[in-house]
Amino acid sequence: MKYDYLIVGAGLFGSVFAYEMKKKGKSCLVIEKRNHIAGNIYTQKQEDIWVHKYGAHIFHTSDKKIWDYVNQFADFNQYINSPVAVYKGKIYNMPFNMNTFSKMWGIITPGQAKEIIKKQIEQAGIKEPANLEEQAVSLVGTDVYEKLIKGYTEKQWGRDCRDLPAFIIKRLPLRFTYDNNYFNDRYQGNPIGGYTQIVEKLLSGIEVRCAVEYKEFMANTEDLFEKIVYTGMIDEFFDYKLGALEYRSLRFEEETLPEVDNYQGNAVVNYTEREVPYTRIIEHKHFEFGTQPSTVITREYPAAWNKGDEPYYPVNDEKNSALYEKYSELAAKERNVLFGGRLGQYKYYDMDKVIREALLMAEAQL
Ligand code: UDP
Repeated sequence: MKYDYLIVGAGLFGSVFAYEMKKKGKSCLVIEKRNHIAGNIYTQKQEDIWVHKYGAHIFHTSDKKIWDYVNQFADFNQYINSPVAVYKGKIYNMPFNMNTFSKMWGIITPGQAKEIIKKQIEQAGIKEPANLEEQAVSLVGTDVYEKLIKGYTEKQWGRDCRDLPAFIIKRLPLRFTYDNNYFNDRYQGNPIGGYTQIVEKLLSGIEVRCAVEYKEFMANTEDLFEKIVYTGMIDEFFDYKLGALEYRSLRFEEETLPEVDNYQGNAVVNYTEREVPYTRIIEHKHFEFGTQPSTVITREYPAAWNKGDEPYYPVNDEKNSALYEKYSELAAKERNVLFGGRLGQYKYYDMDKVIREALLMAEAQL
């Protein structure tokens, strides 16, 4: 059998690419090493609740084209992400906004908050922020940094904030309004009925084989492919021959509470103290305003990544970025292999960026 494309990985990138190519009359075979499709946006129904099995996903974008695109495959609800953070028994609103500052300092106006933050920044004496700690302090001052950023970030990444790139903290908005929306994006919501349906629709009519490892498959297949789109780890593709890139992993502890209809009153509660071993607890029903009599919660524990573990986050610091550049030079020499997605491109992509990149790659192919 001869296919135009072999797509390795049935996550969002591979599925969008496959959908676009099929539309243009190209034949695709998708292989997936897990026993299900949808990658890390996989959701599964438990207790009548759509559970985000590989960590919470909230769709947000400022790109109208991408928003219209995903809305072809699901109805999105009006969910707005507003996590709260627990630090030493007190609750603070996220992201950093007037609700947070008011709770922290007992103040009321933006002027008062700015005054306090300005003093703290002056005391810290940072001119050019060179790492995440300096970036965070020079944005929000030392109190917010110590209570809401330092512990959480060091748990999540397993290293000191002074050894992390500043861009990570720039993902979070800082505002002097009473606005708890975690994202600044124009469009936001969760698909009613979960994320898996989106990937099911994208892959509808396309041959998908699950529980298939790429290298084993290639060693045994007699099929032919014009091109390969690889969405796994780029360093693994090259057998780590330039060295291993670093990733962070996660361990999820899921719990069903049959007698509890509302465990924490919010979909996302962050635990920002270093001493609490998990970074957040997700209560899945709240993503869809669920009224079920029971609930499902997931504690999210950051974990070191070792070969064989699930790689959730690329560690985009200087050292790893330099190594990735070398792999990407190798990748450019592979005439018939394209690399995409968070793992193939070693980038901390959100879902909307993954879709955009997959659409761009599909366009470039045509
Ligand atoms: N962050 C933080 N405190 C929080 C939540 C997030 O300091 O309560 C910082 C932390 O540095 C983290 C980054 O913001 O690595 C991104 O967090 P986000 O929740 O966006 O990560 P993701 O949802 O991608 O896991």
